[in-house]
Amino acid sequence: MIDIRIQTQAEYTVHIGSGILNDCGKIMSALIAPCTVAIVSDTNVAPLYMQTVKNSLVLAGYKVIEYVFPAGERSKNVQTLAKLWEFFAESELTRKDAIIALGGGVVGDVTGFAAATYLRGVPYVQVPTSLLACVDSSVGGKTAVDLAAGKNLAGAFNQPIAVICDTDTISTLPEENVSDGAAECIKYGVLGNKRILEIFEGLPEDVNVDANGVPTSGYASTRPLYEKIKDSLEEIIAESVRMKASFVCRDEFDTGDRMYLNLGHTIGHAIEYCSNFELSHGHAVAIGMRKIALAGERHGITKPGTADRLTSILKKSCLPTECDFDPEQLLSAGLRDKKRSGGKLTLIVPKNILSCEMRIIPVEEFSDWL
Ligand code: NAD
Repeated sequence: MIDIRIQTQAEYTVHIGSGILNDCGKIMSALIAPCTVAIVSDTNVAPLYMQTVKNSLVLAGYKVIEYVFPAGERSKNVQTLAKLWEFFAESELTRKDAIIALGGGVVGDVTGFAAATYLRGVPYVQVPTSLLACVDSSVGGKTAVDLAAGKNLAGAFNQPIAVICDTDTISTLPEENVSDGAAECIKYGVLGNKRILEIFEGLPEDVNVDANGVPTSGYASTRPLYEKIKDSLEEIIAESVRMKASFVCRDEFDTGDRMYLNLGHTIGHAIEYCSNFELSHGHAVAIGMRKIALAGERHGITKPGTADRLTSILKKSCLPTECDFDPEQLLSAGLRDKKRSGGKLTLIVPKNILSCEMRIIPVEEFSDWL
C-alpha cells in the first residue's frame, strides 16, 4: 500500500493499494471512534463493493447504514442532495458519526457536499472506484452538485478525513471510463510528471485497422486499456495523486496555481458542450490537450513536435484526438465557459511534453487558439 499525505489546512492521507477495501474499517479506526457510518453509493457500484466495505466496517465495530442512488451525472443534483440530508436526519446521524462516498466522481461530489452541509459538517471518507475519481475528484476537497444552468455551480470546499483507493475496483470499470481517467493522468504527465509519461508512452501500439489496413482513429486499441495498464495502476494513481496534491496544497481554494489542472479543459469543455455532452469529459479533455498543443506550436510557445508526441500517447491510451466541430462552434461554446472572467481567458499551454505555462488572453484572441 502507498500512503500519500495531503497537506491542506485539514490534513489527510490517501491510501492506495490492491484489495484495500477490506481495510476500510482498520483505516477508519485510526481516525474515528466506533460510531454510525453512512455509506453512500450508486446503483452500479453498490452491488459490486458495498458488502466488502460494510463487512470491514462492521468487523471494526461500526454500525453501518446505506444509501444508494441511480448511477450517472443526472443524479448529481439538488434533489439527490436533499434526499441524502433527509436520509441522514431520519437515521439520526450526528456530527460524531461519519459518511463514506463509495463510487466515482458523481458519488464523491454529491456526498462530499452533503457531508459539508448536513449539520454544518460531518466527517467523510472518499472511497473512489473510477480511475477519474482515484486520480482527480477524490483529492482536493472540491464538492458540488449541478444546477440547470451548468455543472458544479453549487458546492463547497470540504476535505475528506481520508481517501481509500483500492486499485482492484478499476477492473470492473467500463472501458470508456478507464480511458476517461487516463486522460487526466496524461494531463499530470504533461504538467511535469516524467514517470506517468514514460508509462503511457511505453504502452503497446496495438491499433485497430480497417479493411484497408488503415488505423482507425479514436478508440484504436485492440486490447482494453485496463489490460495494458493494470500492472502499473498503483504507480499511475500514486504519481497522479502526488501531482494533484502539489497543486492543491499550493492553492487549496483555486485562485492561482490550481488553474494549471485545467490543461486541455477550456477547449475540452467547449467540445463537451458542442457534442451535447455525448462525448465524455476525459475524451473531450484529450482532444482539448492536443488542440492547445497544436495552437501553442503555431504561436511559437510549444516546442515543435510536442503535439505529435502527445497524439501518439493519447492514441495508445485508447483516447480520441480529433473532433468534427469547427472553430466557430468551439468559439461560441468556449466563451460560455465559467472560467472566463472580466473579458479574459486563462489558458494552460504546454511548453514541451513535460511542462506548461499559464497565458491570460483577451477573449477576442481565443479564436486564434482554435
Ligand atoms: P461517475 O461517478 O458517473 O462514474 C462513471 C460510471 O462508472 C458510472 O456509471 C459509475 O456508476 C460507474 N462506476 C464507477 N466505479 C465503477 C467500478 N469500479 N465498476 C463499475 N462501474 C463503476 O463519473 P466519474 O467519471 O467517476 O466522475 C465524473 C464526475 O466527477 C463529474 O461529475 C465531474 O464533475 C466530477 N469531477 C469532480 C472533480 C473534483 O475535484 N471534485 C474533479 C473532476 C471531476
